[in-house]
Amino acid sequence: MTTDLSAFAKDNGVKFFMVSYTDLFGSQRAKLVPAQAIADMQEDGAGFAAFASWLDSSPADPDMLAVPDPATVVQLPWKPEVAWVASTCMMEGEIVAQAPRNVLAAQVAKAKERGLTVKTGVEAEFFLLLPDGSDISDPADTAEKPCYDQQAVMRRYDVIAEICGYMLDLGWGPYQNDHEDANGQFEMNWHYADAMTTADRHSFFKFMVKSVAEKHGLRATFMPKPLAHLTGNGCHTHISVWREDGTNAFADDGDEMGLSAEGYHFLGGIMKHAQGMTAITNPTVNSYKRLNGAMTRSGATWSPNTVTWSGNNRTHMVRVPDAGRFELRLPDGAANPYLLQAAIIAAGLDGLDAKADPGKRRDNDMYAEPEKARGAPVLPLNMLDALRAFEKDKSLKAALGDEMSTAFLKLKYAEWKDFKAHLSEWEKANTLDI
Ligand SMILES: [Mg+2]
Repeated sequence: MTTDLSAFAKDNGVKFFMVSYTDLFGSQRAKLVPAQAIADMQEDGAGFAAFASWLDSSPADPDMLAVPDPATVVQLPWKPEVAWVASTCMMEGEIVAQAPRNVLAAQVAKAKERGLTVKTGVEAEFFLLLPDGSDISDPADTAEKPCYDQQAVMRRYDVIAEICGYMLDLGWGPYQNDHEDANGQFEMNWHYADAMTTADRHSFFKFMVKSVAEKHGLRATFMPKPLAHLTGNGCHTHISVWREDGTNAFADDGDEMGLSAEGYHFLGGIMKHAQGMTAITNPTVNSYKRLNGAMTRSGATWSPNTVTWSGNNRTHMVRVPDAGRFELRLPDGAANPYLLQAAIIAAGLDGLDAKADPGKRRDNDMYAEPEKARGAPVLPLNMLDALRAFEKDKSLKAALGDEMSTAFLKLKYAEWKDFKAHLSEWEKANTLDI
């Protein structure tokens, strides 16, 4: 049954709806619509000038209408008189094909045609920084190996407990919170779900973490590498695929890793498209300071360097921690929540269709003995490499749709050009007296 947003407002004391969409750079955009006006908006959508966000639109284009998806409505736990709702971007009665949530909806539909539901869980790591973003916010958080630091996590208890409490209220099934491997870094885990639900929650989580941090006088960041000497923000994604009868299509008790043939083929698709999909999973200039990054203070980057997979070994791109699922350790905190899921499904379904072979399992420690995986494809070393790899990956581009692929590449190449024009301190230090 479709939720009537007007009735929802009356029942829950909602004064405003935040009608929200996510653009190609992962920015969340919204209009605050008073509850008195939501009935018409639910029907027709809220009007936006698409050119004003990153969607590769023209200023001459007609209004883009963000039509609320009432199934996603949630009251902001920290401001219950406001309700957030994700929306479907439309223009002149047509779906805006490159809008990230629409891109993911198309992939979810393709999986459904095969009788499959892709379920995922994300580990969206973040830092709590000073408001100006210059450093971590807790001067006592100085341990060389701060992961799971009991004292440090308690110094941020007020922030973590507030967010976790909200996730409990929202019914996400949060189950653990910890201090992560970098000073000032945290991770909060909630239960996995179908890819669209996870993407909506992931978007809302980022909004919620930033909002609650601000309330406490802090600044939360999901930036892949906000501090050069510390471990970066990953967004490890756990993946399994389920059949209509509710069974896990990846599970096979008879296999030594507990993975079925479908599991290996889906994994094979991820391996095949990894270099191209890195443009989406690791979409910023800064992402490549985490991937193939320099060693961190804690002794490990926890980030992959090559297109390799392993068992319960965190030094490879894919880890199979348990039967019936695997963990993609490639994505970082800058990944667009919708495009991340869309790229995984597109690559995985291609693997299923092609009965792709993931290649051999590697069991070496990639940080201590990388030579043991010599010959394995290397992940892109910078954003330009990643964009070129995506541009070359015709089947991944086609699977994600020409509109999305063309728009994404156009905007990201322009961003690279902008970055290239930036003169850094490093260049001056190393080139001024040449
Ligand atoms: Mg982690």
